[in-house]
Amino acid sequence: MENSSLLNDILDFNKKFVEEREYEKYETTKYPNKKAVILTCMDTRLLELLPKALNLGNGDVKLIKNAGAIVSHPFGSIMRSILIALYQLQAKEVFVIAHHDCGMSGLKAEPVVAEMKERGVSQETLDTLAYSGVDFNQWLHGFDSVTDSVKHSVEMIKKHPLMPGGVPVHGLVIDPRTGKLDLVVDGNQD
Ligand SMILES: [Zn+2]
Repeated sequence: MENSSLLNDILDFNKKFVEEREYEKYETTKYPNKKAVILTCMDTRLLELLPKALNLGNGDVKLIKNAGAIVSHPFGSIMRSILIALYQLQAKEVFVIAHHDCGMSGLKAEPVVAEMKERGVSQETLDTLAYSGVDFNQWLHGFDSVTDSVKHSVEMIKKHPLMPGGVPVHGLVIDPRTGKLDLVVDGNQD
């Protein structure tokens, strides 16, 4: 199993990390110093680049990640996380930060479903899900324009019936190579 060696590497490293008290320089609380919650993409290039490019350290913000930085369901786990951050964890503003060259850009359901079949998911299973109301074309659809996607997610959050008043919701797009931010929606302007 190729994964077990990564697991072992991680566990070995972790043992040393704790023993040598490397954690001490990261000590902070669960409340974000900068009073913000950020929704961004799971893209590998943003793992360290995004916090560095925004001057964020451990403890500064609540960071939520998914594929594409998309809020696709008003009562899904992303929206729930944002609301918990605002109501229970002292966040006072929201940033949606998508990025150029995203894996969700132009994503269509057909090739994903084709690969599922190739890797053993049966047509019968797919049919059953389709009959149960799962629309793969919608569920596995990414976005065509990253700017429109950010605007849409910002609107979903801003207009959510459970949002507290007076919370700015900003929308931005980051360059995954340089870390440059482009402002799409300035939540302080409305
Ligand atoms: Zn992405």
